[in-house]
Amino acid sequence: MSELVIRDLHVNIGDKEILKGVNLTVKQGEVHALMGPNGTGKSTLAYSLMGHPGYTVTQGEAWFKGQNILALEPDQRSRLGLFLAFQYPVAIPGVSVANFLRTAINAHRKAENSAEKGITIPEFRKLLKGKMAMLKMDSSFAGRYLNDGFSGGEKKRAEVLQMAVLTPQIAILDETDSGLDIDALRVVSEGINALRGPDLGVLVITHYQRILNYIKPDFVHIFMDGQIAMSGGADLALRLEEQGYEWLKEKNGEPA
Ligand code: ADP
Ligand code: MG
Repeated sequence: MSELVIRDLHVNIGDKEILKGVNLTVKQGEVHALMGPNGTGKSTLAYSLMGHPGYTVTQGEAWFKGQNILALEPDQRSRLGLFLAFQYPVAIPGVSVANFLRTAINAHRKAENSAEKGITIPEFRKLLKGKMAMLKMDSSFAGRYLNDGFSGGEKKRAEVLQMAVLTPQIAILDETDSGLDIDALRVVSEGINALRGPDLGVLVITHYQRILNYIKPDFVHIFMDGQIAMSGGADLALRLEEQGYEWLKEKNGEPA
């Protein structure tokens, strides 16, 4: 069983310290929610784990499958089985969803075996059809240009489809609920739930409790000022729903 182990992670953007010692372990089969106010560093954690060049790790470690992933390139982390669904997915006009996904699969396969010819078109069609059926997506979606003119909900569904196709062991979902109306939220959550299972560990990053009504977390962590301030079970999210983040700020000695 694989686990992502983050130890005392400190990250700077420029000379500003944003992450101030994050400790977190996410195992396959577990769903963790990372909740916190805006601007506390949640996306910074996600980007740092995937190797975004704008984020400088100054201290700490992140281990996955026996490797310190902080030393790896983003594509190596991806091939190892880490996945990040972006808070703000970018549009790639001219590249269809299907082509993008086939390229991603082939990049993974070829990196593992240089003699690999890549997935055949019929094999890919079958795979994509199965994943889209599982996520209850209309087949016309595959022919559209990636995120080009997509609604907020469609962009997030495209991220979930990418996750379904790449079959990561650990997926980080950064504010997959942001900008979604309640119907889109339900549809996207159902897609994520369809992928849940003993082989997948998920870190759901969110500002709001409402996505957790659909995706029931095993653990909830509250993120404040670049650190996990408190961890608990699903009930911790409900307490936040009722009381907001203010009581935690007071508890931590900051003015509310
Ligand atoms: P969250 O995802 O919790 O809302 P972020 O990780 O996006 O928080 O941001 C954490 C902090 O880092 C914020 O104070 C934000 O202003 C700052 N920050 C984010 N991106 C940049 C950047 N490119 N340059 C400078 N500061 C940044
Ligand atoms: Mg964010």
